[in-house]
Amino acid sequence: MASPAKVVHHSGAAAKVDVNAFMSQIQVTLPDGSSRDIAAGAPVRAVAEAISPGLAKAALAAVVDGKLVDLTFPLDRDATVKIVTDRSPEALALYRHSTAHLLAAAVTNLFPGVQCGIGPATDEGFFYDFVVPRPFVPEDLEKIEAKMRELAAQDLVYERQMWPRDDARTFFTKRGEPLKVQLIDEKTEGQKEVSCYTIKDKETFIDFCVGPHVPSTGKLKAFKLLNTSNAYWKGDARNQPMQRIYGTAFFSDKDLKSYLTQIEEAKKRDHRKLGKELGLFTFHQWSPGAVFWKDKGTTLYNTLANYMRDVLLPNGYVEVKTPIIYNKALWETSGHWAHYRQNMFQVQGSEGEEMAIKAMNCPGHYLLYSNDVHSYRELPIRFHEQTPLHRNELAGVLSGLTRVRQFSQDDGHCFVMPDQIGSEVEHMLRLIRRVYDDLGMTYQAKFSTRPDEFLGDVATWDHAESELRTALERAGLDYTLNAKDGAFYGPKIDFDVTDAIGRQWQCATIQLDYMMPERFDLKYIGADNTEHRVVVIHRAIFGSFERFIAILIEHYAGAFPLWLAPVQAIVLPIADRHMEYAVSVSDRVKQAGLRVEIDERQEKIGYKIREAQLQKIPYMLVVGDRESAEGTVSVRTRAGGDQGASPVDAFIASAREEIAHKGRAVATA
Ligand SMILES: [Zn+2]
Ligand SMILES: [Zn+2]
Repeated sequence: MASPAKVVHHSGAAAKVDVNAFMSQIQVTLPDGSSRDIAAGAPVRAVAEAISPGLAKAALAAVVDGKLVDLTFPLDRDATVKIVTDRSPEALALYRHSTAHLLAAAVTNLFPGVQCGIGPATDEGFFYDFVVPRPFVPEDLEKIEAKMRELAAQDLVYERQMWPRDDARTFFTKRGEPLKVQLIDEKTEGQKEVSCYTIKDKETFIDFCVGPHVPSTGKLKAFKLLNTSNAYWKGDARNQPMQRIYGTAFFSDKDLKSYLTQIEEAKKRDHRKLGKELGLFTFHQWSPGAVFWKDKGTTLYNTLANYMRDVLLPNGYVEVKTPIIYNKALWETSGHWAHYRQNMFQVQGSEGEEMAIKAMNCPGHYLLYSNDVHSYRELPIRFHEQTPLHRNELAGVLSGLTRVRQFSQDDGHCFVMPDQIGSEVEHMLRLIRRVYDDLGMTYQAKFSTRPDEFLGDVATWDHAESELRTALERAGLDYTLNAKDGAFYGPKIDFDVTDAIGRQWQCATIQLDYMMPERFDLKYIGADNTEHRVVVIHRAIFGSFERFIAILIEHYAGAFPLWLAPVQAIVLPIADRHMEYAVSVSDRVKQAGLRVEIDERQEKIGYKIREAQLQKIPYMLVVGDRESAEGTVSVRTRAGGDQGASPVDAFIASAREEIAHKGRAVATA
């Protein structure tokens, strides 16, 4: 049995060492500014213990000098210390990652010989990838979860052990875990020691991991395994096939339960399922990650595309179309050739020249801007483009409409003078707000400021940030501040929209850019008749149309508001003899600009109504003897509401009224 030559234990027991045994004291500064003296070498847990027994009990980890560490982390010099509890923003990811270790411990105990991959926390929970002889089945998950509960009940310690790197490599090689060896090779090059974590002991579970984790399995209470999927080592289909187990974890049963209810609801709304049922789109293996929009899906897509034009064009934007394929010289100028090439499809021109398919519109817009000399009087210049973009995503990460290789954005680039930043951003914020209000979605703005590594000078950044802050205030928007989270080339404002079941999606973005104007030498002639540098503002409201449509499908559960519904009304003749009248109704409704169909099948009316409801068509116009005689339609909504007979013109007028209100007035559902 390979035993490490030297194992440094920072176990729970270390915390109980008599503090008097330490010769010297160090000073820790707490978040409230107060300070405490702690024995040098004591684990950071001692700080929590010194503050209160309650805090010691609640402690999950600590932040020492800005770095998240285990409670066993030894304090050997003066430091700032924050104790992490379940209320800390860092806590949930740490807790979930620790639960992923618990999952791996349960799996390796139940299925000897299984190889472990990686097990990170995610926004929704955690997962762990395994190499297994056969895929997991639902009964396996039940067994694994029961084992996890058993290990949690035993309150086993997570212990950090420092292993000499070679010993760790030998150990995992002998255990038949080449993937762990590969991770050690890649992640710890040049290190003498690597950190491994055990649960209880290395027989129970050991993993190569940088940590940190909760102190013991007893801290893990509300967790649930959800499902499995095929996966590949590092998400690349050319690599080792693996099985991924997904789970989630929360600090309380109540939070877990409400999340589980939400995912049940999300399953019903899954855009991949609804997209098929409603006949919106499909895929084919010969063009992975590229959508085949069926006629109804295309109608939905075009309605949104034209809506965006209706929002932007009267507000100073011009629509442009720029090339799809560019010589590498463009990508070298933008920097994408060096840093982003592997994400773009590369093609060869007829002269053998290296080219790439655009993954974003910005560089094309810069070329278009520099094609003319611009006076300060023309600014801001606002380009909007909806042509397709391509990103060479790994096959393993493609998913429905949310992760695709081909997509379009409502992509805009505004070229402004520095003193126009504030008013331009305020203008953008008002447009963003209008769009989300039209869709009946709530949203939250996030303002990200200068990171530690940044381009340009502090004064320029300060000016830009104060302009953005003022714009947010003038637009009357509440926002959260993400300090130091801006891109290195400029501050930004992002928007999270919240859908009908409480999930958040990042969509709109406003991004200042001081770098590209330099790289592409973008300028304007100022009032002083000399050349000046413009500032570029990248902005999108939907982001990718494909992803945004996925969000909308799930937000509305496929029951689109009237203005977006691919089919807005369907005429349902009760019997064959009503067909002629049905056609005349349909013609009138169509001529009024509504999207209408007729169900001509010889089916019972109840069946036709049920079908139309399943297709989530907002209005059913039933026509029989009485309606034909009186020139009316009997209006039903998809929710099952019978609105009674109405003259055709009255129906048209009220439908048009509803369309004009978009998602603001949710009259029917
Ligand atoms: Zn870990
Ligand atoms: Zn851009």
